[in-house]
Amino acid sequence: MPLTILVSPPGFLRRCQVEKVPGTFSVFDRREQACLFPETIHERILMTEKATQTKKAKAYQRSKQRLALFDLVRTPVLLFLLLFFPLSKGLAQWAGLFSFRPLEIAAYFLGFSLYFLIFDLPLAFYSGYLLEKKYELSNQTLGTWASDFVKKAVLGFLISVLLVEALYACLHFAGPAWWGWAWAGFALFSLGVGRLFPVLIVPLFYKYGAVSNETLKERIHALARRFELPVSHIYSLNLSKTTKKANAAFMGMGKTRRVVLSDTLLDQFNDDEIETVVAHELGHYKHGDLWRGFGLGLVVSGAVLWGTAQVLKNLGPALAFYGAEDLAAFPLLALCLMLFGLVATPLQNAFSRTRETQADLFALRACGNTPAFKTCMQKLGQVNLADPDPHPLYEWFFYDHPSMAKRVAFAGRYEAEQSHAG
Ligand SMILES: [Zn+2]
Repeated sequence: MPLTILVSPPGFLRRCQVEKVPGTFSVFDRREQACLFPETIHERILMTEKATQTKKAKAYQRSKQRLALFDLVRTPVLLFLLLFFPLSKGLAQWAGLFSFRPLEIAAYFLGFSLYFLIFDLPLAFYSGYLLEKKYELSNQTLGTWASDFVKKAVLGFLISVLLVEALYACLHFAGPAWWGWAWAGFALFSLGVGRLFPVLIVPLFYKYGAVSNETLKERIHALARRFELPVSHIYSLNLSKTTKKANAAFMGMGKTRRVVLSDTLLDQFNDDEIETVVAHELGHYKHGDLWRGFGLGLVVSGAVLWGTAQVLKNLGPALAFYGAEDLAAFPLLALCLMLFGLVATPLQNAFSRTRETQADLFALRACGNTPAFKTCMQKLGQVNLADPDPHPLYEWFFYDHPSMAKRVAFAGRYEAEQSHAG
């Protein structure tokens, strides 16, 4: 999707979204039932369940990984096709019929977005609807999935077209220094999204509600007070509208700051486990991870834009574009942004994984309840059908959290160190 190409390079935006929690699985929540059986039988049942669950999670994640790898190849191929068959030139000529430049840009970008939509739709339907249904993770009907897809596509187009207009204004008015202006504009845009995402975007798809569990709320407030963290709003989010997966996030900036717990988390996890999840989120806040991510995002987006400017300057004339401003060169621009962004992906993910481990450490220290942390991770892995041991290369490139097995092992090492020290 064009929005992904233009918006995804800095990790900052990712951080504003609900956190993904990859990981492993466990049979923990079956333990109570298992106690009814003699030791050997229940162990056997647990092992069979574990093997079935692992197989299911592996198969689900294998499909997801194939899709991610396919997408990695598909987008540049589609951009290449636009560039080297005269599709982009034809589109730019048609858009040129509009004599008002902003309208010409919008018309070109509409054609560009529709071209991507044709290829996005079947893939989105398969990964967002069919696959989730197949693995019993989805709570959506075809109708609600379709309406969410349309909403996302329209919203994505509207935000992207504004960014593209701003980009071409930089190209027009700033000449060779366009990338610097685009960089500054992107930083402002990221800050705006960080602040507005929870209040403008999230309510388009989900509803905030009150957390009815007063004991839990009081525990969260007590935790926040202990670390002098300003948590005034704790919301529940009806994630169950679309999925069975559980999640939590610390979202927003300034007045829009809030702790958000999915209803799926509130329903399936006990207070001890939810407290460790919230402590992890508060750890991010205490460590200033939002700003660290924003800083790294700035460095990466600056490098990506500068690199793109160099390619456009040197390669543009060879491809018969009249300049960087030529609308027909847009796929080249998008291709550069995407490929340079890809080069930075493992770096950003490695950075993210270290921040996640630090937030885990904060949660372990703050709650002092390693068993709850471990079971929470295992249950998250289970309900989200996370891969227990992803391929190291895949994890290195794509994972912005350590795998759940690594997080549980980390908690184990922490526990061992504590008991050794004690
Ligand atoms: Zn985190």
